[in-house]
Amino acid sequence: MKIVLILPIGSIHRFGTGNFGKSLRYAPLTLTTLAALIPDDLDADIKIYDESVEEVNYETLEADIVGISAITGTSLRAYKIADTLRNKGITVVIGGVHATLLPKEAKEHADSVVTGMAEFTWPRLLRDFKYNYLKPFYHQGPELILEGFPMARRDLLKKDGYVTHRTIQATRGCPNICDFCVIPSTWGTSYYTRPVKEIIEELEQFDDGPIVFLDPSPIEDIKYSKELYKAMIPLKKKWVGLSTIRMAYDKELLSLAAQSGCKGLLIGFESVSQNTLAIMNKDFNNTQNYREMITRFHDSGIAIQGCFVFGFDTDDIDVFKRTVDFVYETNIDLPRYAVYTPFPNTPAYIRLDAEERIIDRNWSLYDVEHVVFQPKKMSVQQLEKGLIWAWKASYTASSISKRLLFSGLFNSLFYMKNLPLLNMGYRNYAYTLHKYTNDVLKSQT
Ligand code: SF4
Repeated sequence: MKIVLILPIGSIHRFGTGNFGKSLRYAPLTLTTLAALIPDDLDADIKIYDESVEEVNYETLEADIVGISAITGTSLRAYKIADTLRNKGITVVIGGVHATLLPKEAKEHADSVVTGMAEFTWPRLLRDFKYNYLKPFYHQGPELILEGFPMARRDLLKKDGYVTHRTIQATRGCPNICDFCVIPSTWGTSYYTRPVKEIIEELEQFDDGPIVFLDPSPIEDIKYSKELYKAMIPLKKKWVGLSTIRMAYDKELLSLAAQSGCKGLLIGFESVSQNTLAIMNKDFNNTQNYREMITRFHDSGIAIQGCFVFGFDTDDIDVFKRTVDFVYETNIDLPRYAVYTPFPNTPAYIRLDAEERIIDRNWSLYDVEHVVFQPKKMSVQQLEKGLIWAWKASYTASSISKRLLFSGLFNSLFYMKNLPLLNMGYRNYAYTLHKYTNDVLKSQT
């Protein structure tokens, strides 16, 4: 059986990051995880294509069955690929976040749709396909325990194009319910942890070089996180990942993360206004202690990729400058700005839809850099311009230099090597963003 797995191209790569693009790209884990789940007895010939790093010739592509995983921003691209392949007589399965949010829509372009996590459903689906019993939908059951599954098939990824192939997940899901986030709407509020022993065995397989933990919210079970970080210390690896700011509330946890090799974290600050954090259900973030927590991360040798979202109902046009000033003053190593985006079937979508404030349902614009709803305290144009201004203002040469020189991290060889390159990658992104109007993106789907 010939099985092909495809990840459609994402918007950040469509914008282009020039020669610095590779510095922002790590190997995806979805396709390699799906490849590992393919039962041995199917004796499958498996190929993986990530459109972000290679062009795929769909005219000559040969497969018995193709699996496509898409988020909302890539869903129209996924549908286009699916339609092309089905016209050639190839069976197509669509899964991933968007298909989980809107399974019926995905089904219009696929022979079968997988919702939720695919650990049990994907192997079952492939066996059903082999025996001509393919069902229209495969939904994740309640029985999922993330234990004893094979390691991701990283050997199937293209060798170049990524800054690292060493991507891994220790936990999945998130028990929080931030109103803009797709995770609770996609997977519910269940939280899954893999056995520490299995994570350590997988990490031991990696060669030298930075590891990326892709857990969306890795410290929801603090006892588990401490156990994992303690077990990682002897490996002497360096890693980056995501976390909520709460990692710094617990000094022991922060210290163990640093000792385990943590060098950088993507942290969703989201807003510098406590009122705004309250309306998005993320008021476990406390703006009063942001500065102290940032200092704690930096003092522990951990760089911060700080994420901020614009366009909440409490945001007026001053929000851009207040946020950029905060980033500058606190020396956030790698700022990242997004527009509030009502992903389908999230609480944000349901509310804005009821208020008739969704102005565009072209999913390719749902990439967190385009305004698809009517903001409350500013116009659509002001939000678009403010977003681009914030990106540019934080990636001027002087802002980059100041943030890097004063974060306290730049005396480390690791940061001297990596942070300038990452900042240049984002600078390139910031200065290209404005060139891509909605029309350009629409024509590229
Ligand atoms: S934004 Fe982060 S903390 Fe909030 S629900 Fe999503 S993953 Fe969880």
